[in-house]
Amino acid sequence: TVTYAYEALPVAEWFRRNREIAGFQNPARAMYQTVRELVENSLDATEPYGILPNITITIKPVDEAKSWYSVYVEDNGVGIPGHEIPNVFGRVFYSSKYKIKQHRGVFGLGLKMVVLYAQSTTNRPISVRSAAVRSDKIYEYRIMIDTTKNEPIIVDMREYENKYKWHGTAVKVVIEGNWLNSKKRIEEYLRRTAIISPYAEIYFKGPDMEMFLKRRTIKIPPPPEEGLPHPKSVDVDTVKQMISESKTATLAEFLINNFDGVGEGLARSFLEWAALDPNKPVGSLTQDEIVLLVEKMKAYEGWRRPRADWLSPAGPELLEVGAKSILGAEAVFAVTRKPSSYSGHPFIVEAAIAWGGQIVPVDKPILLRYANKIPLLYDEGADVARKVVDEFNWQNYKVKFPAPVAVIIHVCSTKVPYASAGKEAIAEIQEIEEEMKLALRDAARKLRIYLSRKERELELLNKYTS
Ligand code: ADP
Ligand code: MG
Repeated sequence: TVTYAYEALPVAEWFRRNREIAGFQNPARAMYQTVRELVENSLDATEPYGILPNITITIKPVDEAKSWYSVYVEDNGVGIPGHEIPNVFGRVFYSSKYKIKQHRGVFGLGLKMVVLYAQSTTNRPISVRSAAVRSDKIYEYRIMIDTTKNEPIIVDMREYENKYKWHGTAVKVVIEGNWLNSKKRIEEYLRRTAIISPYAEIYFKGPDMEMFLKRRTIKIPPPPEEGLPHPKSVDVDTVKQMISESKTATLAEFLINNFDGVGEGLARSFLEWAALDPNKPVGSLTQDEIVLLVEKMKAYEGWRRPRADWLSPAGPELLEVGAKSILGAEAVFAVTRKPSSYSGHPFIVEAAIAWGGQIVPVDKPILLRYANKIPLLYDEGADVARKVVDEFNWQNYKVKFPAPVAVIIHVCSTKVPYASAGKEAIAEIQEIEEEMKLALRDAARKLRIYLSRKERELELLNKYTS
């Protein structure tokens, strides 16, 4: 007879074994992903707080025979409170970003993947130095993860006086990497970061190169506000959990207090439409009634549109500054579309077309994809933006290939529909695809006007000179 042994795999252990789904499949990609996770955390710790980001990244060989490298990233952000450091580095799914609001981080996973990858390949702990704003102390920790318990192991820690009121975070990790095969991607990633965040100052030193992306503007986009979920965006489990936290509320009160844009009147019209009793305490709803409630919430057409205050697009001005300075374009035409939504999640699409200058003519437009200001470099073929750009009717806009044209497409949302956990491509959501088309069309119209004008001016010039 065969006997089966059933067991639950602890979450941290699961991620250690399946690191490829988070972008750590081989040493080159892991090196890129490490830089990416750390830089994104640094940007999240600065920009939304109105701090102009200063980020330093250093990669050094530690043991060339084994392909071990140290990766160091330092920022001037808000820092991490001392008592939180072990958990944010040592507990999978521990985050300050599980909020309805635009962030680069979403899963509470990035740092922990870096730690797990380091301990799987070099068995070295991650080193952290951090001080929160106005903290009297600077904390230093070396941390590993106990994967069976999903708990931090504090290898050692010390704290010392923060004499000069420094704030920020510095992280150093030793990983097995592949510099030669990741160098180009890392440089490209940082360049593209500078395009969409030209208010950041980024200094990068690799084993055989140095790169300084200087700040091009001191304007930072207004930070996103934190919001409540839209009634169409929640599932049964979420609603159950919300109910368990407000059992005595009536159905009407529950909707008003927990969802965005639901007032007294709207709550009542919805409940009447759904044939549900507004005065029933939510704690007394049966499982079937909760399922029905959520179905009705999704089906109801009368809700307000999800608000976009939770989002923070770059805006046309920053896109122009970034694309002109980094791509060296002759002209840039940028558009930020009005907010839209899918399944109750607000989103905004931005597009920019960069033309001429140092952009070399190509047979199809170079595409720079972004989601919540994160450059996406891999899986371009799986991204709906590529499809939109390829299907776009460029002839209508006076563009004949080969042409010196690059396209930037940025989607920001409280929930970016990534096609995978590696966060590299945007899934084919109809509403988003539609907005991408419209954004591209708006930007291309500006390009057409520019090209026509340029054509006429050149003709005139030729008349005079011939
Ligand atoms: P996520 O970014 O998805 O939240 P991470 O594992 O990358 O997940 O980070 C966990 C948490 O650690 C973040 O939510 C943030 O609160 C904190 N954190 C990480 N890096 C920094 C940093 N450089 N500065 C300030 N806080 C940070
Ligand atoms: Mg993160």
